[in-house]
Amino acid sequence: MDILIVKAQKIEEIGRAGRDGRLSYCHLFYDDEMYFKLRSLMYSEGVDEYAVNKFLSEVFPADKSSCGKICSLIKESASRRFDMKEEVILTVLTRLELGDVQYLHLLPQTNVTCVLNFYKTPAVSLAQKISAIAVILKRSENRHGQHTFDLPTVANDMGVTPVELTNQLYDLKLKGEITYEMKDMAYCYRILEVPTDLLSLSADITKWLSEVESCKVRKMDVMFNAAYFAVNLCDKMNGCSSVDHTSCWQRIILDYFAGIDNIDFCKKIDQSSPFLWADIKVFLQSNSHARFTPRAVARVMHGIASPAYPYTIWGKTHFWGRYTKIDFKVVMEAAKEELKKFVGKDIL
Ligand SMILES: [Zn+2]
Repeated sequence: MDILIVKAQKIEEIGRAGRDGRLSYCHLFYDDEMYFKLRSLMYSEGVDEYAVNKFLSEVFPADKSSCGKICSLIKESASRRFDMKEEVILTVLTRLELGDVQYLHLLPQTNVTCVLNFYKTPAVSLAQKISAIAVILKRSENRHGQHTFDLPTVANDMGVTPVELTNQLYDLKLKGEITYEMKDMAYCYRILEVPTDLLSLSADITKWLSEVESCKVRKMDVMFNAAYFAVNLCDKMNGCSSVDHTSCWQRIILDYFAGIDNIDFCKKIDQSSPFLWADIKVFLQSNSHARFTPRAVARVMHGIASPAYPYTIWGKTHFWGRYTKIDFKVVMEAAKEELKKFVGKDIL
């Protein structure tokens, strides 16, 4: 293995090597830079409570009759809008399905935007014969005879499932009445229960996500500590030698799973930097056209791309990844304070 990987994965890799029952060796290449990079990446999926709240307000439309309805979220645009990775969106939706209360039922992901053209019968005449077409005309945007609509919306209006509607469209296509194309891959779900208190649900979900994140960072730190101990501190007794640290690794791994917290042998991650605040200020001033959250600023400083702040655009700033050695949370706090000064009270 040529990179540091989180401990659980590492153990899996070790198991793989010894699968044939023969003696196998695990070589660990130890590198500070890789540790900083990987530790930063552990923060790439975090989401702020306000974003989760915004997300939930869109998942559950305000209209009271939304129970039982099929809704969709277009993956790419939602990911950019909420600055949440697609995997994180899916994680939250799954939580809403499998948590204490089943708020929704996830359906297979599918393309939801339909672009339709009428071929034989004029649209209005066809609408008189086929109710689906009447609803489509009402619900679609017509540009040069091309009708664009959201499939779940039309299906809800008709009281059918998106699959049933698709089947009807397919029949009309076979008859030569229409042609259509589907686009925009989306998460689809049926709403089973609308949460009564979106704010507290957002708080719960955010707390859970941040616990998962802390756990990943902790794993990373324990792993790095074990490597640091073996390379720098191990007294090479109790079965260890200069190149073989099986014994101390085993002990640290067992302690980790037993919940025993070893002392942090190395404090590589800094908790402050003299230039951090000034750099954040300059960054905000030179990008005053853009809107930031503390997390977004911290990600730039840590060199972590996100859906709303992609590398192709933000990788060009010379602050990109400059503070990977400073704890992400410290950078975020500093960014929060600077943002407060920068935009006044209009901040989260
Ligand atoms: Zn050792």
